[in-house]
Amino acid sequence: MSQVRPIGYKAYSPRPFLKKDREKVEILFGGLSWRAENVLQALFENLGYLARPLPPPTREDLMLGRELADIGQCCPTSFTAGNLANFLRTETDRIGPDAVVENYVYLTAGACGACRFGQYRQSYELALRGLGLDSFRMFLLAQDELDQGEIAGGGIEMNMPLTIGALWAVLCTDVLQSLEYQTRPYEVTKGQTDKVVRESVDFLCDKFRKRPYRGKKLGVLVWHLTTNYFVDALREVFDRFKAIEVDRLQAKPVVKITGEFYIQTVEGAPSYDIHAWLENEGSEVYPAAVATWFDYLFRIRAQAIAEYVGIKPRARIELARIKGLHYLYGWAYNRLRAALRNIPHEMPSQSELRRLAAPYYHHRLQGGEGDMLIGKALWAHLRNKAHMICELSPYGCLPNTMSVGAMAGVLGDHPDLLYAPLEVKGDAEVHALSRCQMVLTEAKKRAKSEFEAALEQSGLTLEMARERLDAMPEMKKATYHVPGHGWVGIGANLVTELARESGR
Ligand code: SF4
Repeated sequence: MSQVRPIGYKAYSPRPFLKKDREKVEILFGGLSWRAENVLQALFENLGYLARPLPPPTREDLMLGRELADIGQCCPTSFTAGNLANFLRTETDRIGPDAVVENYVYLTAGACGACRFGQYRQSYELALRGLGLDSFRMFLLAQDELDQGEIAGGGIEMNMPLTIGALWAVLCTDVLQSLEYQTRPYEVTKGQTDKVVRESVDFLCDKFRKRPYRGKKLGVLVWHLTTNYFVDALREVFDRFKAIEVDRLQAKPVVKITGEFYIQTVEGAPSYDIHAWLENEGSEVYPAAVATWFDYLFRIRAQAIAEYVGIKPRARIELARIKGLHYLYGWAYNRLRAALRNIPHEMPSQSELRRLAAPYYHHRLQGGEGDMLIGKALWAHLRNKAHMICELSPYGCLPNTMSVGAMAGVLGDHPDLLYAPLEVKGDAEVHALSRCQMVLTEAKKRAKSEFEAALEQSGLTLEMARERLDAMPEMKKATYHVPGHGWVGIGANLVTELARESGR
């Protein structure tokens, strides 16, 4: 009698990607904003790789991701798996499966637990198998290691020049994005901001492509921290923004975007294009910075080490090292921000986020954005950073579901906090946007009454304020930094500033 031998589970193990193949194999990546992805592509080129970001994710990607991978997974998994699968499928039709598995590799960030982020790779594997591309190579890199050395057979070196460069690419594009979102809603000539941003991204790409070589170890970090190379590049970007005329004498609600990392970062289909939608509805969007995520990674590493002080030898030294790096990271961000005259939003302090969230969410619950969603909502509300919070919660996301639940307690204590949690599942747009619309109506009212209060307090009418503004052309440039006077909206702060300026 023949015996059936059980087939055991075999973990995916990609064929090596050799150094000698670098010139003909293209590295695919994605999951960030188009600005960061473009600059990262230039960084890869700087290091001698062929690389390209995947096309912007679409609704079709979501559907394909659901079809090919686990249907019950969170929607960012479906979007990213489908995005990769759609690209590879199109390429398979064009050049055939053998050429696809030879010509491309996919590079993505990964982690273990506590949410589905730790299982993305399994979803990709499933999708690849469904496409008949089992031998396609995909490589995972840890998101919290600066020097992972050679991976994948030497074809990719996850070393300091790449990881530090990637960090700076994210920081530079974050501050640019923040300036962009504070300009576009007020631009006088429609489309001018987008044009300047496109040119600025191209310019930054050129700078990253030509980044000088500074070794492979600590010298790279020291150079990035001390050089004026990126600061000067951003100053040139700032000069381009000077040409944009803006009219900030308007009462626009500021809407802070929070939520799951992927959904809040990738503008477009994964978030129902909420950024553009909110702007079309007359808001100023306060986008989510990727820089804050890395800031959080520093914090959770420090939190974990702190628990071993007095137990594990050298824990105190390691804690001091992480805290030192964390400080330098914040300092580097602020340096780049200052190159854009501090108009980009500041990074909220991690200790303040933790403190604000503490009564509602434990700081050691680390899935997704952890306690940051609660902390950010309270920070934006209590510190007058936004009129309203729009939290993007993916369908099937456990950490976000917990945050939304904990927010019930926050709203009980802060009933005046305008909060719109949107469940994002890719195909329930009308429902999500109409929910957002309801809270936005309140935010608009709030922005309007704040603007009127600013006029009344300064003793100006709108006409008088406009006359004064017309007499000060510098204040009509996108590069004019409106000082904060305790109001949330830029229009209200401008009114107070105009009253002060003319009183001088
Ligand atoms: S945070 Fe939520 S949406 Fe994001 S990977 Fe984890 S489970 Fe999925």
